[in-house]
Amino acid sequence: MTETNTNLHVETRLAQAGNRTDDEKTGAISAPIYLSTAYRHAGLGQSTGFDYPREAQPTRCILEATLAELEHGTAAYALSSGMAAIQLVFTLFHSGERIIVSDDLYGGSYRFFDLLHDHYQLNFSVWDGQDQQALADLIDAHTVALWLETPSNPTMKVIDIAATAETTRAHHIKLIVDNTFYTPLIQKPLDLGADIVVHSATKYLAGHNDILAGAVVAKNPEDAKQLEFNLVTTGAVLDPFDAWLLLRSLKTLPLRLHQQEANAQALVKALTADKHVERVLYPGRGGMISFYLAKGTEVDAFLRALQVISFAESLGGVESLVTVPAVQTHADLSAAARQAKGITANLVRLSTGIENVADLQADLTQALIAATR
Ligand SMILES: *Cc1c(COP(=O)(O)O)cnc(C)c1O
Repeated sequence: MTETNTNLHVETRLAQAGNRTDDEKTGAISAPIYLSTAYRHAGLGQSTGFDYPREAQPTRCILEATLAELEHGTAAYALSSGMAAIQLVFTLFHSGERIIVSDDLYGGSYRFFDLLHDHYQLNFSVWDGQDQQALADLIDAHTVALWLETPSNPTMKVIDIAATAETTRAHHIKLIVDNTFYTPLIQKPLDLGADIVVHSATKYLAGHNDILAGAVVAKNPEDAKQLEFNLVTTGAVLDPFDAWLLLRSLKTLPLRLHQQEANAQALVKALTADKHVERVLYPGRGGMISFYLAKGTEVDAFLRALQVISFAESLGGVESLVTVPAVQTHADLSAAARQAKGITANLVRLSTGIENVADLQADLTQALIAATR
């Protein structure tokens, strides 16, 4: 998407991502994978724009331009994992500063924030994601940013990004949003007032359960410049093969997400009506559902009885997966913290794939019956 035509719809722009990037040489429709780590210079002070791949790499640059456009940012960076992306954002901060975080986050983010507190003297406060006055009250002279995830993981609480951005702007702190669950097709945090977006691109953006990748997108050129400098300095960039795979995956993101969401909405209805399910948590959009098994329905028996849906720890792919947050993604939290957040042993998280929904529904129904004593 080097020649940006903003009049085109997102499906068109994504389907065409990388096309026309090699017109002079070959006319390749699919953007080439450049493996070279060295680039010849015509003479002193001359460069094609590519000198060394930690700084810039042709395949990754096409991907990054696509990601920036998709999130309506000025620049994007593709990294080797979602956690690498989160780590890059935190290189903007200094010891002694305070970051406020929403209270229901990806388990790995908690673990990282604990490390930053223990080893690097960053301070953290927790906000419930709902009350703007409570947020304003948490902001002190050392506070530099608010970090949030919406919908939250795994209890699917929704935070109003636009209202929150008014509070963060009024107090001159950055707003950073982990947009992994909804993707920019459902919500564009930068348009709603956020400063930086991060993704575990491993999930919906890649969407095939086959690449580990992360992304950071910045709205302001100053943030972009600092992030780029820090990334070149620290080095956790995405490799050319995975950059190409992610670029290819983005072409079908709208189709995939459309089917994942339609499947989720149908399954929410079925699960809500099922007497083996105590409660269903669904934020209204997207392909992520959490639900509590009713008393007498055993989690392990349910997982073992599934034949189409796999018990595995990830989300956002074309294959439907179930996870048990209490023992997987959120195992590092204390038992008390899990209990307080509603992450109990009978809570199951379902990431709907693109299978025929009748097969998914039948699989859930038979497994719930099989798991009930
Ligand atoms: C998976 C995930 C991450 C971490 O990303 P990795 O690609 O696994 O490093 C961060 N945030 C959210 C919301 C995630 O689901």
